[in-house]
Amino acid sequence: MKILFSAPEDDWGDYRDVLPAALVEAGIGADVVREAAPETVDYIVYAPNDRLHDFAPYTRTRAVLSLWAGVERIVGNPTLTQPLTRMVDAGLERGMVEYVTGHVLRHHLGMDAHVVNPARDWHPAPPPLAADRPVTLLGLGALGRACAQTLAGLGFPVTGWSRTAKKIDGILCLSGEDGLVGALSDAQIVVALLPLTAETENLLDADRLALPARGAALINPGRGRLIDDDALLAALDAGWIGHATLDVFRTEPLPLDHPYWRHPRVTVTPHVASATRPGTAARVIAENIRRAEAGEPLLYLVDRARGY
Ligand code: NAP
Repeated sequence: MKILFSAPEDDWGDYRDVLPAALVEAGIGADVVREAAPETVDYIVYAPNDRLHDFAPYTRTRAVLSLWAGVERIVGNPTLTQPLTRMVDAGLERGMVEYVTGHVLRHHLGMDAHVVNPARDWHPAPPPLAADRPVTLLGLGALGRACAQTLAGLGFPVTGWSRTAKKIDGILCLSGEDGLVGALSDAQIVVALLPLTAETENLLDADRLALPARGAALINPGRGRLIDDDALLAALDAGWIGHATLDVFRTEPLPLDHPYWRHPRVTVTPHVASATRPGTAARVIAENIRRAEAGEPLLYLVDRARGY
């Protein structure tokens, strides 16, 4: 069996040992290669920032296994007719839970006022308890659900919103357009963990950014295009949104002259919320190849029509 590792050189450095080891652990005999004649390749392990874009010559390839959770760059590629899986990785999930929890707690506790306090202000009012701070998660997939459950465990009243209806212990789960209004209304902290699709692009527009409690914090580790940037800047200037912590952007790296860099109530983090962790991700890839070879359904198959 031949597996083409089609990802930038840095990724190869991370996976060149752990991927073959995970394949052996899963009982798969395979060569993991960097170059191959397309018609000889059985599986492609793929990073969407790789230079391979024409999948048509890969006539023997049984699946394309993405190293990334977000697949918006390849889901519409007309040459990609092979099954496509996205990455759901325990390490990626833990990283996102830590990022989201950290930034939620920063806003909840008003930490900035104490970290940077040049006026030596004495703030006598302690923050409310988590129980009095409603938090909304847009997206209840692999990452959103894990963040929602951790935040609920800390005592926050958590509302989650997804495309299809869900039941998750301790989380108020809403779906659909009405559900979105309910999920955003009066939220004090909103976290966006949706994939970028035709339906979610510019989802956070002027009308929806006006729904949370006045001065709410917005945290976006999902995708930049979920937000109408002009509407967010206007909502920040009007005080509807008190602070935005943004990890992902329409253009990355975020251009140096972008207003987000200099806005006093915007925190820019450079797409570091979380990353696929090679040790755990290699096992996910190996398990999916094992499944494909055994004729079992693939895990985390992307639905092309749905876009994620
Ligand atoms: P996922 O498991 O596919 O979950 C996506 C969630 O969004 C699901 O709950 C889905 O609803 C919901 N959703 C999709 N379209 C919707 C719509 N039109 N209306 C309402 N809900 C909708 O994805 P994931 O693994 O949690 O990852 C989420 C995103 O995080 C990725 O797509 C990627 O963009 C981003 N990400 C960012 C970083 C970073 O470092 N910043 C790292 C990894 C991932 P259903 O449950 O009903 O399907």
